[in-house]
Amino acid sequence: MKEKCIEAFKRVFNKSGDICCFAPGRVNLIGEHTDYNGGYVLPCAVTQGVVCVASKRNDRLFRLYSLNLERRGITEISLDSIKKTRSWADYPAGVINTFLRFGYKLDCGADILYYGNVPRGAGLSSSAAMETATAVILRVMFSLPIPDNLLAIIGQFAENHFVGVNCGIMDQFAVAMGKKDYAVLLNSKTLEYKYINIPTDKTDIIIVNSLVRRGLANSKYNERRRECEKAFAMLSAKTGASSLCDVTVEQFERYKDELHPKLLCRARHVIYENDRVLKAAQALKSNDIENFGILMNESHKSLKNDYEVSCAQLDFLADAAQKFPGVFGSRMTGAGFGGCTVNLVSKEKSDAFADYIKKEYFAAFKTEPHVYKTLPGDGAKVLFKF
Ligand code: ADP
Ligand code: MG
Repeated sequence: MKEKCIEAFKRVFNKSGDICCFAPGRVNLIGEHTDYNGGYVLPCAVTQGVVCVASKRNDRLFRLYSLNLERRGITEISLDSIKKTRSWADYPAGVINTFLRFGYKLDCGADILYYGNVPRGAGLSSSAAMETATAVILRVMFSLPIPDNLLAIIGQFAENHFVGVNCGIMDQFAVAMGKKDYAVLLNSKTLEYKYINIPTDKTDIIIVNSLVRRGLANSKYNERRRECEKAFAMLSAKTGASSLCDVTVEQFERYKDELHPKLLCRARHVIYENDRVLKAAQALKSNDIENFGILMNESHKSLKNDYEVSCAQLDFLADAAQKFPGVFGSRMTGAGFGGCTVNLVSKEKSDAFADYIKKEYFAAFKTEPHVYKTLPGDGAKVLFKF
């Protein structure tokens, strides 16, 4: 990918690049829809990601190009008036804009070329990869003293306030802070985090892409956020909790019947899911992959029945996987309504599992899913300077 990017940069911009960076995608192992409720999540960065090559300009233009979307050509953004183009370029433009809003000085523009192998719009956070890659480029190019966790905050700010997607902090945090062989246990309220080793000698992480487009995802996502706010208003009045995930399982069981039935289900997912993340982290620490898998399966069930963000294809993939000997756990991952499942599979069974799940899914839906074997990888970084 690096070589292809360097070549393409020369072709597109008629000069060579100054710097080459990488930002990974991420897969969330457990803790879905908890990050905007002040709870825990347990994602890891993956080995797939976006590579970018950049070079400073001597004017105030940013010229952005994606090798994945060659037909779109170059998008030009002026540092003096950064406007939304309602295209892919809003992700990097949003980050440039956020640097300025946060008071960082960018004294000139740059040419930047991107090339990624994270499927776009599949719940593996290709968007956070684009944002964080851009943030790393700007940090190095302009010698700005920005710690990695602030890169994540900048990326989330760009996505919330420029692109206009109301996401939590998980994606950008995992992408900026990921570490080879480790999952990141993140407290989304305090941003405290711990790395927990994933036994990659015994297990593979297999991602199965249903190829279902997440059509309703944005409107349903916002609807879920509102439902959580309503449930929180009632439960915090009873318990004094500072966020929905601050409500304990015991408190929830005591007061749940005072909630509207739909809100009860939404809150039950969030509060129990948060509890599952902590149990899963504990299981991972003690190398208890069986128990970790059981918690993943429970997470899927809760996302399907209580949070209602799954779909027939994801349910099929999770069900079929959970029946396969050698699969420890399987669940939908990402916001839902399409996208991928994440599967923890014993190493010697993972190739057989990939064949099996492709055949089963094809028989049911006449589409072959995309299957990616991945590893917990490093967060965003500079690959080299020319
Ligand atoms: P996800 O983050 O789950 O992949 P999103 O809808 O949040 O899905 O982000 C996907 C969008 O990010 C794409 O539609 C595109 O605009 C942008 N994007 C991601 N990767 C690339 C890339 N390599 N080149 C150009 N745009 C990209
Ligand atoms: Mg995204």
